[in-house]
This record gives sequence, C-alpha cells and structure tokens, in this order.
Amino acid sequence: MAVHAHPDDESSKGAATMARYAAEGARVRVVTCTGGERGDILNPRLAGREDILRDMPGYRRREMAAAAAALGVEQVWLGFVDSGLPEGDPLPPLPEGCFALEPLDVTVGALVRQIREFRPHVMTCYDENGGYPHPDHIMAHKVAVAAFDAAADPTAYPEAGAPWAVEKLYYDVSFSITRIEAVDAALRERGYESPFDGWLHSRRDRPRRRATARVHCAEHFPQRDAALRAHATQIDPDGFFFAVPRDVEAEVWPYEEFELARTRVPVEPVMEDDLFAGVRLAGLGEGPVREYPVPTAGDVRAAGAPGHDREAVERAGARAGDGADGGRLEA
Ligand SMILES: [Zn+2]
Repeated sequence: MAVHAHPDDESSKGAATMARYAAEGARVRVVTCTGGERGDILNPRLAGREDILRDMPGYRRREMAAAAAALGVEQVWLGFVDSGLPEGDPLPPLPEGCFALEPLDVTVGALVRQIREFRPHVMTCYDENGGYPHPDHIMAHKVAVAAFDAAADPTAYPEAGAPWAVEKLYYDVSFSITRIEAVDAALRERGYESPFDGWLHSRRDRPRRRATARVHCAEHFPQRDAALRAHATQIDPDGFFFAVPRDVEAEVWPYEEFELARTRVPVEPVMEDDLFAGVRLAGLGEGPVREYPVPTAGDVRAAGAPGHDREAVERAGARAGDGADGGRLEA
C-alpha cells in the first residue's frame, strides 16, 4: 500500500516499483489522500483550457484512473480536500476544511480503515519532511505513520475493523542525491546537457539521508512514464520528468530507492533489493506486536551491503560522497 498526498504523486515516487510488484502478482493499492482539487494546469500544452479549469477535480480523477491502469495497480481516495500550496510572504492561511487542517483522529481513522480492509504487508509513505514543503505531504507522512501504529492496536478505532499489523513501513527516497549525481555525471560523459545543475546546487548543504533499499525496476519505467503522461494537466511531457534520455536512465540508475522506517519482522543490515524481504505472507497473527531495530545507513554501508547492484552503487556512492538525501521533487 502506497500512501500519497495528491493524484500524480504515485507516478513520480515509487511508480515502477509498484508496477513491478503488481506484474509479479502482488496486490498493490495506492491510497490518495486528497483529490488534488487545488492543482493548477502545469502542462503548457493545456494552459488556459477553460473546460479543464471548470472541472479540475473531474480531470484529476480521470487522470488518476488512467495512471493506475498504466501501472496495473488498485487505487482508492481517502476523500480529503487538497490544501493547495500556500505562496507569498507572509503565507496566506490554509483554506478551511482542507486535508492539512482536518483533525488527526479523522484522517488517521480513515487510513486505519483502509489498512484494516486491505491488510497490506508493506506500506510506503513520505519522510517527515514530506520530501517537499507542501502541507498535504507533511500531513500524509503524519497520518501514515500514526495509522501504521493505530491499525495494529486493537484499542484504537475499534469501529474501523479488526486490527492489522503492517510488517514494514518505508519512506520514498525518489530523488536521492546519489541518484541525481550518478545520472548527472553519466549525461555529461555522453555529451548531453544535464537538467540537474541548479537542482544539485540548491541541495548541496541539505542534510543527506541514505536509502536502505534499492529495487531494480527499469523494465517498468515505460509504465511509470505512461502513468506520468496520464496526469496530463500536471506533467509537462517536455519537462523535468522526461529530461533524462530513457536509455541512459535505465543503464545508469535502474532502481527506485526507499528507506526502511519501521519493521515488525527482523531484517538484515544490508541494502535490501526487495521491500518484501523477511515478510510473512500469513501476517503476524494475533497478540502483541513486536518491533525490530531498523538498520541505519551506517549499518548498511558497514555490511558492505548491496547485492546485485553493488558495483553501480559503489560507483555512484563514490561520486556522491556521503550518500543520499530524501529530497524529492513535486509533480
Ligand atoms: Zn503532491
């Protein structure tokens, strides 16, 4: 189960991983917290289209359905309203009734109900910074982490179904510095212009965080791209998300990255290549739920970890210095 703030986030964060697991027979469900009602038209080819502006929620629902079909995943709406991205100085107040202002017991309760109904083994969400300073992304993180706890707790939200303990919770690490630097270097070597110059520069001094899982999913990049294009009002087909030639991307960085945040099954201190590693398909059963320590990036590196992708990771790591940052771009 992948928890996202807006329709289109699922296509820019972990999309090929979801497509891969769906193709391998897993049930994969995206939970979209808001309808993206306050999104602008971000694709210059559709700029100013009155029919879209009159019915942005309708467009975004249809785009979401097409994206889910491209990825081969299920999708549900949590039913909250987009908070919009406040801009200006001072920032304007958030609009009444939006997702970021809803009481936590309401939003968490809604996600607990989804978890107990779908009974996922693994969940993904954003890190505590949302990866991007949008109030709905920060809130999606808070709600997902609180629901991970509450869904397993029989005393919490008893009206929302029988308790279910999700076994692992990951944060998306979609735009790690390690990845961007590796792709940036490869583009320069091949004589392409890199779209990441300013991006890297602006993130130089940010704290870096490191992925603990790298999922090989290049075979499913075409599905990810189709899902991105399905969000036609939000994604410019000539823009950032399509700036890297796809053959270069698949060769240099055929992965998506995640950081294990919580686990209720023991895990090895290695760079995982499978989010389902160690998961028990029958679930954890009744009784008190135990948690296990999460390996830190230091553990992962000390163990000399990565498996099949070890050399690529080391090459990229050598260029990147200290590893990855959890920063992501927003579609
Ligand atoms: Zn978003």
